[in-house]
Amino acid sequence: MMNGKQHVTGFFPAELVDLMTEIGEPRYRAHQIFRGVQQRRLRSFDEMTDLPLALRSKIGEIATPAALTLESKYVSEDGTRRFLMRTPDGRPVETVYIPSENRDTICFSSQSGCQLKCDFCLTAKLGLFRSLTAGEIVEQMIIVLNDVYGVGAETPHGTNLVAMGEGEPFLNFENLIKALEIMSSEEGLFIVPGRVTVSTAGIVPRIYDFASLDRRPNLAISLSAPDDELRDKLMPINRRWNVNELMRAAKAFEKTLKRGERFTFEYVLLGGVNDQVVHAESLARLLKKHDLQRVKINLIPHNPAEQLPYRPSDPEQVLRFKEILESRGVSAYIRRPRGRDIYAACGQLAAKTEPNLVQIASV
Ligand code: SAH
Repeated sequence: MMNGKQHVTGFFPAELVDLMTEIGEPRYRAHQIFRGVQQRRLRSFDEMTDLPLALRSKIGEIATPAALTLESKYVSEDGTRRFLMRTPDGRPVETVYIPSENRDTICFSSQSGCQLKCDFCLTAKLGLFRSLTAGEIVEQMIIVLNDVYGVGAETPHGTNLVAMGEGEPFLNFENLIKALEIMSSEEGLFIVPGRVTVSTAGIVPRIYDFASLDRRPNLAISLSAPDDELRDKLMPINRRWNVNELMRAAKAFEKTLKRGERFTFEYVLLGGVNDQVVHAESLARLLKKHDLQRVKINLIPHNPAEQLPYRPSDPEQVLRFKEILESRGVSAYIRRPRGRDIYAACGQLAAKTEPNLVQIASV
């Protein structure tokens, strides 16, 4: 519900059928509306000219496809775009569009703010406002795709999604899964689970739940430290579920992978803190101990900010870290930061609105 109206962007076709039945309309109207919202990405019923005028106004009284408002948009020198949106109750929602040669990635938020207090992340400083509804999750993609390609236009090469924006996706599990199911519909955005990656800071019970889903997206686990002593400090969620418990869940997940699939550990490299030779060695040993084989490590250079007490690692140290892992048979990739100049990179989403960021358009 928003302003007393139902937010149909978070409705399955079957739920739209129920809504149509309630107002005495045939079920095929539900499918027209689903396609209007999801496939044509229309944000008002008035634009759905395939519906009779009377129906458009009748449904407009009780429902809406638009809960979020786009407040501002920032464009990086590397082409990355950051969208700052608001929920009806004024909470910030941030979404990042990351273009690259043969694919586009949209990084969306699962919550407004975040309750996990990861010491190296700016979103943590916001605290948690609230979890987003399924509709608010889906609508982020609709707004971004319309901005990038125009309303309803097809995307030239399918879009990848990552649940790596504000919030902890596994603390909003049901809404996240519902949103992903809606987005996978062929009658809608048609972004299939294989193109989606969900990242968790380590909500262990939900990793097991996720592993048991039939059609599930890819998984990334933010690790960032190879032992409890360090991880307790960097990511306080570790005090709830420690490294061992996390690795056991990761192993259970690994067993559900299909042929050729792998999953990811993310490791933010903080200069002098977790980027030393001993850390790389200990990380390789940890994976071996838990018999984790089908993993890759994404090494994320720390994105610094004034409020954060860390500095990025020296580039040679990053390379050395990667080489140590690889020499022990662990695949590791160094991630190139995107959109740092507009506060769009990993760990930088804090609803920043400073004018010196160069706001390209206010919508
Ligand atoms: N809460 C989830 C989803 C957020 S994903 C999770 O933690 O996985 C955001 C990713 O950015 C995480 O892998 C996190 O470790 C990383 N990150 C956070 N702060 C960062 C920073 N300052 N620099 C680089 N990466 C950061």
